[in-house]
Amino acid sequence: MITSMNDLRDLYQEVILDHNRQPRNFGPLATASHRAEGSNPLCGDKVTVLLDLDAGRIRDIAFQGAGCAISTASASLMTEALKGQTVEDARRLFHVFHDLLTTGDIRDREGSPELGKLAVFTGVREYPMRVKCATLAWHTLIAALDQKQDQPVSTE
Ligand code: ZN
Repeated sequence: MITSMNDLRDLYQEVILDHNRQPRNFGPLATASHRAEGSNPLCGDKVTVLLDLDAGRIRDIAFQGAGCAISTASASLMTEALKGQTVEDARRLFHVFHDLLTTGDIRDREGSPELGKLAVFTGVREYPMRVKCATLAWHTLIAALDQKQDQPVSTE
């Protein structure tokens, strides 16, 4: 039972560590129709996002790469959140997540998918260097959706 802010932080920390240890949807995606690569030179994070899009929906999603715990957990939680979603909802969720990390605004936008487990990154806002780690996979996702695979994403 969550009784305090400290307990909540511990829970968030636990989710991030779990997704770093056992990333979900990690590996190749044979059916990928879209892909993009991203890097965060400040931390050394690298990620490739692979998408299998079908009729405006993310039928399948995977990621590859290597990085710090925050970047790996963020990519893992992102793939979990987006599998089966429409492309439109994925873009909306990107904005909700980005707002959470840059402004601390955790109100879900009207009509947007809920943040759900992505809220575990709330505390990252206090560490600007880490915001880039947490948003790398998302910026790379948008590049993949926009078919910008010829221009690798960099947080710099
Ligand atoms: Zn990082």
